[in-house]
Amino acid sequence: MRTVSGPTERVVIVGAGLGGLAAALHLAAAGRRVTVLEREPVPGGRAGRLALEGYEFDTGPTVLTMPELIAEALGAVGEELGDWLDLTQLDPAYRAHYPDGSTLDVITDTVRMAAEISRVCGAREADGYLRFVDHARALWRLERRDFIERNLDSPRDLLTANLLRLLAAGGFRRLQTKINQFFRDPRTRRIFSFQAMYAGLAPHDALALYAVIAYLDAVAGVWFPRGGVHAVPRALAGAAEKHGVTIRYGTPAAHVETAAGRATAVVTEDGERILADAVVLNPDLPVAYRDLLGQQPRRVRYSPSCVVLHVGSTRGYSRIAHHNIHFGRAWRTTFDQVIRRGELMSDPSLLVTNPSRTDPSVAPPGRHTYFVLAPVPNLERAPLDWRGDLPSRYADSLLRTLEERGYTGFGAGVEVRDVVTPARWADLGLAAGTPFAAAHTLAQTGPFRPRNLHPTLSNVVFVGSGTQPGVGVPMVLISGKLAAARVTGALR
Ligand SMILES: Cc1cc2nc3c(=O)[nH]c(=O)nc-3n(C[C@H](O)[C@H](O)[C@H](O)COP(=O)(O)OP(=O)(O)OC[C@H]3O[C@@H](n4cnc5c(N)ncnc54)[C@H](O)[C@@H]3O)c2cc1C
Repeated sequence: MRTVSGPTERVVIVGAGLGGLAAALHLAAAGRRVTVLEREPVPGGRAGRLALEGYEFDTGPTVLTMPELIAEALGAVGEELGDWLDLTQLDPAYRAHYPDGSTLDVITDTVRMAAEISRVCGAREADGYLRFVDHARALWRLERRDFIERNLDSPRDLLTANLLRLLAAGGFRRLQTKINQFFRDPRTRRIFSFQAMYAGLAPHDALALYAVIAYLDAVAGVWFPRGGVHAVPRALAGAAEKHGVTIRYGTPAAHVETAAGRATAVVTEDGERILADAVVLNPDLPVAYRDLLGQQPRRVRYSPSCVVLHVGSTRGYSRIAHHNIHFGRAWRTTFDQVIRRGELMSDPSLLVTNPSRTDPSVAPPGRHTYFVLAPVPNLERAPLDWRGDLPSRYADSLLRTLEERGYTGFGAGVEVRDVVTPARWADLGLAAGTPFAAAHTLAQTGPFRPRNLHPTLSNVVFVGSGTQPGVGVPMVLISGKLAAARVTGALR
């Protein structure tokens, strides 16, 4: 594994997102003097917090998987997860709502899940599910150590026995083709393949090795921290400070100073120079290249973006769960519209999260919070008019769609609402106005994804969703560990 060159005593990290915080914890654990410069007044970046008239909303991730990675980051400095976060496992992890009016609960316990699939789709489908679980679990074991939790310096690093096993398991076929080998019912086919969208691709385009995402949420489980997902970066930041990391909030970095092929300092917008032996950059990778290093980033294909509608409401609904996927009738067309054609979904599939159901403290007494996520094209695919009246028109159309899908009186119950669009993501410094970074095509996966070690500046490292291994809370926490290893030379 390549590492940064020269001394590494003083490390400056730009950004206290989940990636930057995980790196900070692993570096502090290895005895480095770590300073984190964060532009915002709070940690978390995309995993932020929006407070509106007594309602509290998570601004980013809601589907929290693999809490063992949070435990690992805290454990690096000797802290216990249970002392920092109060996690509840969601049961069901999701409720799928289909256009024919049927619902299917996604349950982590495989015996109960097989019974649920049998109830909705028949016994043969439940057998397929059990075979899928074995397959996806095996894939996760094959991929994790060799390809995900590892700093890959060149495609040659992929040549392990597990690559052959992955090939033999059909990992390089298309995800939808593979899923269809296990499932016959369109409802199960959808609930175990829609996760390709998390990787920025349609299930018929994504590689079958991405079945691990469905494994992580549908099989390994989904958790909710009391107070919301924003409690996670708060916990990581608190533990980092307790163990000597200096976090300076409200301190935007303006650029990285370099000399003789090395970063020497990070200069803040106020003109302060903070000397560094090594620099770790957590802002969205293309923006870090452009704004902090003054360099042209590599061209990549970006994931689609999303609109998030936050609603504080007087209305509660007994037929929904904490996480709900409402599928439209359209399937392939929906992905084509958002990803290829740059159009809004004509028959939307939506994620509706209802955190106040699990934790009433996030809403005023007797009130409810809803987070509605609609995939939309990124700004490179379609520069739609998100700075005009489109956000409000689109939010109104989402409210109407949900009313048609059983949320009676949803519009009338709204007390507060906020619409977050690709324009807002772009304003937050996210390339192409998408919070989901470079899509996980084969050419942008593993050693082909933008590297976490700068190609010419010998002590600059990247961390976060734009680099390896990829997008989402688990991958970004792993990227923190990998970035720290580039500095220390050791994977802890
Ligand atoms: C709406 C939405 C829903 C999502 N849903 C899920 C989900 O359900 N499950 C899941 O696993 N993942 C989900 N994700 C993805 C996940 O949130 C991200 O992959 C992850 O949080 C990215 O973390 P990061 O550390 O790479 O970047 P960020 O969180 O963006 O952190 C970068 C940090 O750098 C700071 N910064 C930027 N520029 C500067 C500067 N010049 N100076 C100082 N600081 C700076 C920023 O303020 C920020 O704190 C979702 C994301 C969004 C937005």
